[in-house]
Amino acid sequence: MTLDQLATTEVPCNLCGARDPLPLCVNCSLHIVRCRVCGLVFVNPQPTLEALREYHAAGELMSQDGWSSYFSHSQEQICDLWQERFADVKRWKQAQNASLLDVGAGYGDFLHYASKEGWQVSGFEFSPAVAKLSREKYGIALAVGDLFEMPFPNQSFDVITMWHVLEHLADPTAVLKRLFELLRPGGVLVLEVPNLDCLIRKSYRVPMTVNLHLYHFSSATLSRLASAAGFKVLRSRAGNTGFLYSRRAKVYAKRAFYACSRALEMAVGANVSDSIRLHATKVSN
Ligand SMILES: [Zn+2]
Repeated sequence: MTLDQLATTEVPCNLCGARDPLPLCVNCSLHIVRCRVCGLVFVNPQPTLEALREYHAAGELMSQDGWSSYFSHSQEQICDLWQERFADVKRWKQAQNASLLDVGAGYGDFLHYASKEGWQVSGFEFSPAVAKLSREKYGIALAVGDLFEMPFPNQSFDVITMWHVLEHLADPTAVLKRLFELLRPGGVLVLEVPNLDCLIRKSYRVPMTVNLHLYHFSSATLSRLASAAGFKVLRSRAGNTGFLYSRRAKVYAKRAFYACSRALEMAVGANVSDSIRLHATKVSN
């Protein structure tokens, strides 16, 4: 199944509801537009929910660049990536035996590291093929389906994480509102998405639909989306995934990369960081 075979439908801006967005480009047969009111960049028309379900059920994403890139790294590098993410989450939520929900848990890597530290972990995955690999790799049985099919009671979790998932979802606003309900007051949401303001993406010359990204967030639009869902945004900042470094060169490369990225952002308002990480909390219901 290819992207141009998916049934599609016109959608309003997911952030402000406006219609008649500005066309930007056609990339991998998908039309990418920018909302003239709030600036959100998204695919329009979008694949229907039924088409997305078929696409994921067929395991199409597993054969695409994102996953093959993931598996091209050594187990050591993959380990570094998830340990950095878990250490970051712990900086924002210091709790013993915290209850964690990982949305779109993929192969279960993050849940694996969190459970080793004694956290109570839950997760689900939209793709049955990916969830199967999680069982085989870590023995973690992920529920299969989307967020709205999961029977979690409100205020079940101290921490909710979402690593490179939100950009794939048809209705990010509805998902963030549901996550707000599931989080306990004082709980923390940590999510990461690709950074639209990264120089190589800003040119629109590279494929923007790798892994079927339906939304392309800047730090600003991501923040506004989380705020509109009820969260208090603590930080929304461009960073990197950690995949750029071999283990030996990691520390020096990371320092240099961050320094260049910050200098460039201050000088010309652009940056070279490939991801945005957002930290938010729930103050009240
Ligand atoms: Zn808008």
